[in-house]
Amino acid sequence: MKKYVYSFQEGTKDMKSLLGGKGANLAEMTNLGLSVPPGFTITTEACIEFYNQNKEISDELMEEIKKNVTLVEQQLGKKFADKDQPLLFSVRSGAVISMPGMMDTILNLGLNDETVVGLAKSTDNERFAYDSYRRFIQMFSDVAMGISKSRFDYVLDGKKEEKGYKEDPELTAEDLKDIIEKYKMIYLEEMKEEFPQDPMKQLYLAVKAVFSSWNNARAITYRNLNGIAHDLGTAVNVQSMVFGNMGNDSGTGVAFSRNPADGTNKIFGEFLMNAQGEDVVAGIRTPKSIDELKTVMPAIYDEFISSAKKLEQHYRDMQDIEFTIQNEKLFFLQTRNGKRTAKAAINVAVDLVEEGLITKEEAVMRIEPAQLDNILHPNFDEKELKKAVRIAKGLPASPGAASGKVYFYAEDVVAAKERGEQCILVRQETSPEDIEGMNSAEGILTARGGMTSHAAVVARGMGKCCVAGCQEIRVDEESKVLKYADKEIHEGDVISLNGSTGEVYLGDVKKVNAELTGNFKKLMGYIDEIKRLGVRTNADTPRDAKTAIDFGAEGIGLCRTEHMFFNEDRIPKVRRMILAKTAEMRQKALDELLPLQREDFIGIYEVMEQRAVTVRLLDPPLHEFLPTTKEDIQELADSMGITFDELRDVVNSLHEVNPMLGHRGCRLAVTYPEIYRMQARAIIEAALEVSSKKDYDLVPEIMVPLIGSEKELKFVKSHIVDEIEKVFAEKGKTIKYLIGTMIEIPRAAITADEIAREAEFFSFGTNDLTQMGFGFSRDDAGKFLGEYEANEILEVSPFEAIDQDGIGKLMKIAVKLGKETRPDIHLGICGEHGGEPSSVEFCHSIGLDYVSCSPYRVPIAKLAAAQAVVKSK
Ligand code: PEP
Ligand code: MG
Repeated sequence: MKKYVYSFQEGTKDMKSLLGGKGANLAEMTNLGLSVPPGFTITTEACIEFYNQNKEISDELMEEIKKNVTLVEQQLGKKFADKDQPLLFSVRSGAVISMPGMMDTILNLGLNDETVVGLAKSTDNERFAYDSYRRFIQMFSDVAMGISKSRFDYVLDGKKEEKGYKEDPELTAEDLKDIIEKYKMIYLEEMKEEFPQDPMKQLYLAVKAVFSSWNNARAITYRNLNGIAHDLGTAVNVQSMVFGNMGNDSGTGVAFSRNPADGTNKIFGEFLMNAQGEDVVAGIRTPKSIDELKTVMPAIYDEFISSAKKLEQHYRDMQDIEFTIQNEKLFFLQTRNGKRTAKAAINVAVDLVEEGLITKEEAVMRIEPAQLDNILHPNFDEKELKKAVRIAKGLPASPGAASGKVYFYAEDVVAAKERGEQCILVRQETSPEDIEGMNSAEGILTARGGMTSHAAVVARGMGKCCVAGCQEIRVDEESKVLKYADKEIHEGDVISLNGSTGEVYLGDVKKVNAELTGNFKKLMGYIDEIKRLGVRTNADTPRDAKTAIDFGAEGIGLCRTEHMFFNEDRIPKVRRMILAKTAEMRQKALDELLPLQREDFIGIYEVMEQRAVTVRLLDPPLHEFLPTTKEDIQELADSMGITFDELRDVVNSLHEVNPMLGHRGCRLAVTYPEIYRMQARAIIEAALEVSSKKDYDLVPEIMVPLIGSEKELKFVKSHIVDEIEKVFAEKGKTIKYLIGTMIEIPRAAITADEIAREAEFFSFGTNDLTQMGFGFSRDDAGKFLGEYEANEILEVSPFEAIDQDGIGKLMKIAVKLGKETRPDIHLGICGEHGGEPSSVEFCHSIGLDYVSCSPYRVPIAKLAAAQAVVKSK
């Protein structure tokens, strides 16, 4: 028979897939000798079996659970359901990958009308016992049975009002007994049966509720957002209770072994005396900094610090630890690798390498490429910030800068985002139902909750800017107003959040680029040591090129020359070139463009210094360049010395039904070779000039777009080479150069052996290769690809991540064929996929030499390239 239940002594941290993250860690802590309240874990396999059995718990499983209850009873010398000294349990879900969308904790399970009396006597604290019982009824009803918590809050608040109390602790045992009776009535009304008095039945229902919560809507959303498989199932942890609310020598808290916001190596956390865990997480009472524990309970503080260090050394990572103090004794309830911001992830990983705890490879594997994106993005401009109107300050829960329109409900944020708005989600406090809204928002602002509140934890995980517990504002969700001082902000008004300081500002405050120094540089150093793939950038201006170099780009993999003409000054010249009625007119336009192009390339070569630069010759989809308005046509006609009608006729004749498959790329040069001649001349003249001026050894790489056949390339290339020879003759100087091609048409991929006879390098244009390989128009596919994803025909858009099975296969064929002809052919990719982590890994695996991507994605591509090496080992 399969074993479905493991006591904490039986597990280890390596049994995560069976015991869930929490269960595996409870077992590991137990076996490390830390003081962990005894308990057991019901496995993820039991959860899967539960779903196989039509959501029923089998008798065999109940037997195993009972046996383990007995084991705990023996360890503690207490009995479950005992009238004098009852053993109580907490019940928690614990998936393999921690999931905030799932069932919350149920505490104090085992209490009933009789055991509560025993608990009161054995602790000599009647108030504590009845408070525990009322909490249990409320949590069990809400969490396990789905009865709205507000019904219970209403009773509790009513009692406080009746007695004129401000805080919960003022409630007396008698008050609590009365509340309990009312709570049980609510249960009866809602469930049509009495509140279960049999502790074993309570346990049975609680386990069932945890298993069921695996498939609640929040959990499913969370898994979809985070790419977690739906068939893993969750484990259930059943653990004997310790109490943080047994008086002023008890307490509870959550702490990280290092700062999860910036990675500083100093314990970071919060605690509350005389409270249970839910009080800290729910953000109802404002917790104290863990540093204060030093004064409140110095010995416990020291024990906690040394245990936290021990756990960190053992797990070799920053830990997120939950603890409880019961009558001056410390207990550990949970440890796990702490969620952290990108900044903290980098700082912790680099520090751990320097402390000798992990290797550089491990450090590199600890950073999520997508997470890296956060720190590469802008922060507020300090100068602008000084001028901005600050309206409040809360807790700096998750760093970054965000601006957007205020919305008070998650669904409104989702809708606004779909309309293309940038939004800030403003809530009293967030709950797991808000997760989609949080995901769609630029930032999150809450009036309540601490640094470990739901909003803070989830936002950090998502890498979203978040200001939590902002007590200087009041949020009236119902009437959709945010009040501060004596003023109001309404839905749709714009605010800005600084998640690194907790400050809130009016309006949209300007942002600036992140500073990438210190540990970021060190991490990039590790990455450079490990990765094999080169990482270049797609840049068309000296400014973009400079940004990319600052981010670590090793060269330019794609300079799209048509982008150099997208400005008011130049467009008329390009139009005159395209629309010329005679060869003379075209040459005149080209003569005007030549010096401009040469200056462009000089600018780029100077910024790039000796780094490789691949310039792609003109590839303008014609529709992007033709004049459309009457005024434009008239103006252009005037400048060309022809009539409006004449020019309009030319424009009409050039109109294409499908411009992306039309007269673009090298096809334009087949018709008008003088265009590529001009560009080749500009490149070579620029390279000669910069080489001699700076004493560089530049090797220009000239790339021909949209090649489909060898003969096509041969024809275009003959013109390019001829023009370059002319330049050499005129200048009396030569320079080494390369001519290569993009592989972006399927025909080119499957005849790459022939094309390689003419091409000295290939660069995969996976945007077009995907467009033409799938037959999905790049400009139109967005309209229907959503349905492909929704119906699981495609996992992600093939324009985002390379479709490895199809488009990737074309690439593999081209690599193989290209190398057959030219074994040392240089291979790269310059489609948008060059900066997408799974595609980078694929490029590594098929043996490309480099990837090229937009400047901001360079560090992500580098990280993915290094991770590909480690993974392939
Ligand atoms: C490509 O097709 O992948 C490419 C890089 O070229 P463009 O996006 O300019 O068509
Ligand atoms: Mg292309």
